Amino acid sequence: MDGEINNPPKTTGCLAAKVDRGTGTKELSARVDQYSIAHSQTLEMTEYLKSAGHVKEYKKLKTCGHYLVFRDYKGIGKVRLHAAQFCKTHLLCQMCARRRGGKIFESYWKRYEQILAQSPNLRPYLVTLTIKNGDDLAECKQRLRQALSKMTQQRRNALKGQKSVEFAKSFGGFTAIEVTNIGNGWHVHAHMIWLCEVPPNHFLLSKEWELITGDSKIVDVRPLHDPKGGFMEVCKYVTKFSDLSPEQTYHVYEIMGRGMRLIDSHGVLRGVKVPDSLLDANLKDEPYVELFYRFLDGRYRQVADFELNYPMKKKKPSNPRIKTPPEDSRTSEEFEDFDYEEFSGMFSNPKEWDELDKLIPESEVSNEAYKALDP
Ligand SMILES: [Zn+2]
Repeated sequence: MDGEINNPPKTTGCLAAKVDRGTGTKELSARVDQYSIAHSQTLEMTEYLKSAGHVKEYKKLKTCGHYLVFRDYKGIGKVRLHAAQFCKTHLLCQMCARRRGGKIFESYWKRYEQILAQSPNLRPYLVTLTIKNGDDLAECKQRLRQALSKMTQQRRNALKGQKSVEFAKSFGGFTAIEVTNIGNGWHVHAHMIWLCEVPPNHFLLSKEWELITGDSKIVDVRPLHDPKGGFMEVCKYVTKFSDLSPEQTYHVYEIMGRGMRLIDSHGVLRGVKVPDSLLDANLKDEPYVELFYRFLDGRYRQVADFELNYPMKKKKPSNPRIKTPPEDSRTSEEFEDFDYEEFSGMFSNPKEWDELDKLIPESEVSNEAYKALDP
């Protein structure tokens, strides 16, 4: 019996939710703690890549997440992740995986709300389809890929008036692939959100899935009483690999990273665009303080705060190699067009960090933040 079905997915609580709605000033500390855990896992993975000689991936991951720059909009109590250097290798890097999960959630949730406004009778269901465990991950992947493709074709045919299938009850939704290995071979699942007016029938779906796969009939169907929690959970599966060893994670990256969409959609949720950037959008026309964090001795620590929109005269770096951030005289449009990624690139080199440190007078480092981090 499949462990995932015995322990059905929880539908509450997920970092992804906090990531993209931005975080209030009070929650920043908890958020930073979670990033510290994620970055520690990325460092562990980096060590593995180095020892196993995976040079290309090692080079990517080793520059990821060494610093984070948040904008604290104190007036409205919101904090946004404004700059960081991310490797975007989300199948290997826990930090990037978490950020990407949040972006996927935000994109699909936004579209879902639009759809629901037009079609209030639609209800979301969490549907899980599994393939029998196997020792060869490539083979398991291929079997799931073919089965999902066949199921999609059956849905299309049913919508054209041919034989009806359960999947045709879904007006639209999305799919996330999860891979686990708990000592009993590779287990590949598809977690799907279906938006339906008529509830999918568990028994019929199980029969259809068995006919498609030839040997796998374990499926799960449940209405989402907490739709937001359910969406988050599915988005989390795209990037969940904490139960795998670094070696297994690398194997998943090699096999699953090619030739299959690990996040896919159908019907009215097709065409949702997930932004490429892993940073939060800035808030227009709001004063902010910029908070700089570095990963030092096992956790992110605040090393500086700048009121960039106000006391520039005092804190403007004198080193010409370090570019100045945008000033408040810019219009909000220019603000939006500013190349934040390029701006963030200036901190990618640890040597430059050291130079920046020298430019910050002792008193401007937030002592309170240090106390909070080192009680
Ligand atoms: Zn990364």
